[in-house]
Amino acid sequence: MDAIKAEFDRLDSRANLGKALVDINKCILLLENARNQIAKDPSSPSRVATLGRLHQSMAAQLDQVGNDHKEVYSALNRYGKALDKKFKAASAFSSSDYDALSNDGHLINRAIAMHLIREGQFAVAKTFMKEAGELDIPEDLQGEFVEMYQIVEAMKVRRDLEPAIAWARLKAGLLEQRGSNLEFDLCKLQFVWLFVQGGPDKSKARDYATKEFQRFWKKHLMEIAKLMCAFVFPTDLHESPYGKPFEDPERMWGDVAHSFTKEFCSLLGLSAESPLYLAATAGAIALPTLLKMTSIMKEKKTEWTSQNELPVEIPLPPAYHFHSIFVCPVSKDQTTDANPPMMLPCGHVIALESLQRLAKGGTQSTLKCPYCPKESTLVQAKKVII
Ligand SMILES: [Zn+2]
Repeated sequence: MDAIKAEFDRLDSRANLGKALVDINKCILLLENARNQIAKDPSSPSRVATLGRLHQSMAAQLDQVGNDHKEVYSALNRYGKALDKKFKAASAFSSSDYDALSNDGHLINRAIAMHLIREGQFAVAKTFMKEAGELDIPEDLQGEFVEMYQIVEAMKVRRDLEPAIAWARLKAGLLEQRGSNLEFDLCKLQFVWLFVQGGPDKSKARDYATKEFQRFWKKHLMEIAKLMCAFVFPTDLHESPYGKPFEDPERMWGDVAHSFTKEFCSLLGLSAESPLYLAATAGAIALPTLLKMTSIMKEKKTEWTSQNELPVEIPLPPAYHFHSIFVCPVSKDQTTDANPPMMLPCGHVIALESLQRLAKGGTQSTLKCPYCPKESTLVQAKKVII
């Protein structure tokens, strides 16, 4: 990478067209001066001499422009060569054999357009969609993301939670169905912020708590109680057992903004992170291993024939693990859609087939949990969705 960095620095310092621009301006000036001189007295015999001088100085000046360009080209050329040298193995993947999406260009275009919209690059997305043609993206989606960015900006730039709270109240039913605590988290942050920002004056925080927290008591009583205890320690809150929520409000802003984006996207039926970003990052992590594998296969002239399976492990960070697996502790089988994990009333989880084996007498007969003394029936077990 050092060679690329050195060439990039060279490109950055030398290969700009600033010098060429200055020299071209000099050419224009020469031409303008000559024109003005001739225009003053078109019939003067000295115009021939003026043109002669112009010819000479223009030729020298144009040479200079040529030299300026040469420097840019040579730096670009060297940078390109350094890149090719470092990434020459990438050519192993240039063959269309590896391009599973070669016939699905519109899917890639759609993913790019969606990525641009969810990144808030609306103008670029508009141009891209115009040039890519029909991409089957709902027309109101962009409007939704415009709203999302306005709300996030209010939070991040102006420290204003009102638009986010208004949105969470509007969508309260849907958020509740998802088991989301977004509205409470937003109100909690508002309280913490007023408390911290108020300094010794806690009246704003107290008024806010009195006005807003009542609505959450059923679900969040304990948390509200802990927050209220902060009033007992106005000066040495961080020494008290109630200081934790007030420790790092800046981080709270980041966390709450992230949960907001996540909930907003999920109500649109989208994941919190852009799938294109995830796929490209996971691909970049996997690429060195895949390239090595390809070169070994080429050298040894072997082929991997198992469908949808790689002969190598590609370790990805935990954030990239989406499909958790469950192995039944009784049968040691990995659960599947047909044989899903089932939770007994005691909280222990085993696979459906193991459960059926235990309930020999049918759905109503009692069965004993293999891990604790509790008894239950087959119908009491609940399917676990991982
Ligand atoms: Zn049990």
